[in-house]
Amino acid sequence: MLRQALLAASRSSGVRRVVETAPYSRSVVRRFVAGETAADVLTTTDRLVSDGLLVTIDHLGEDTVEAVQAKAITAEYERLLERLAEAGYGPRAEVSVKLTALGQLLDDGERTALENARRVCAAARQANTTVTLDMEDHTTVDSTLRILKELRQDFPDTGAVIQAYLRRAEEYCADLAHEGSRVRLCKGAYNAPDSVAFTGKDAVDRSYVRCMRVLMAGRGYPMLATHDPRLIEIAGALAVLNERASDSFEYQMLYGIRPNEQRRLTELGGQVRVYLPYGQEWYGYLMRRLAERPANVGFFLRSLASR
Ligand code: FAD
Repeated sequence: MLRQALLAASRSSGVRRVVETAPYSRSVVRRFVAGETAADVLTTTDRLVSDGLLVTIDHLGEDTVEAVQAKAITAEYERLLERLAEAGYGPRAEVSVKLTALGQLLDDGERTALENARRVCAAARQANTTVTLDMEDHTTVDSTLRILKELRQDFPDTGAVIQAYLRRAEEYCADLAHEGSRVRLCKGAYNAPDSVAFTGKDAVDRSYVRCMRVLMAGRGYPMLATHDPRLIEIAGALAVLNERASDSFEYQMLYGIRPNEQRRLTELGGQVRVYLPYGQEWYGYLMRRLAERPANVGFFLRSLASR
């Protein structure tokens, strides 16, 4: 119930105004977001990379409604990638991109998003790194997979994301588990109807395990994005079972969530990539994080009340 309400709130401009203008929202947000500027995110990237972690940087923003805004976000990614090239992190710091931020929902949006994504991929290539296409609301999945296919013709290392809550997730994973294919597997963070998605936690977890089996047995590069201790344990077992070297897959977690576990897996020799968002458009991202974990709602409300 709370999850549904928070996800609905993530699309509500009224709630958005209240949360964005609450006096202490920003300081709470810093737990999950690197800051508002490219300089902020580069400082945090430097710290994480020095700690032996990998990073994927997300410029916050989604559901762009004007072409000019989509162009501006594309340009922001290009500038960020220039700075990553200067810093010389290579594949240790890549970027995650939401196609709706690059114009996917505009008239002729698929073409616009593809063009903009190509520019981001070209800049990433210059920085010797990669781009992963975040997966968003279920209504965008087919379009995102079409754009991925196009992009991979020129940029084969472009990463895909599959959401285990989708009923078709296992089928998508089987299609994508081929040589050179980078695939992030996550549970899924949006509201989706029963007709397209599993809604119970157990059903989603079981789907995650089935998908992980397919990806870990396949020839691609799995990126296992979860904080769930049980799933992380199963991932380790599947790596042994499939005789995967520790550099042939990676764990991924969100910035600010289970940092001790991120370090523990790194110390055990695993690769861990931290999803690191920055920018002013933090509202939708924050609401999805709150929806995932009631304890985060308590933390947020307590912070608002106590300062
Ligand atoms: P949950 O079911 O939320 O949590 C399982 C268990 O993990 C909990 O019971 C608890 O033991 C532990 N846990 C979770 N949170 C915490 C916490 N804050 N502190 C301590 N323990 C905790 N979703 C999309 O729809 N599209 C994307 O492109 C996308 N990209 C992502 C990229 C990354 C790197 C990650 C990590 C997630 C991404 N997500 C994306 C979000 C994802 O779909 C889930 O909503 C989110 O990861 C929560 O699911 P979970 O697997 O962590 O399990």
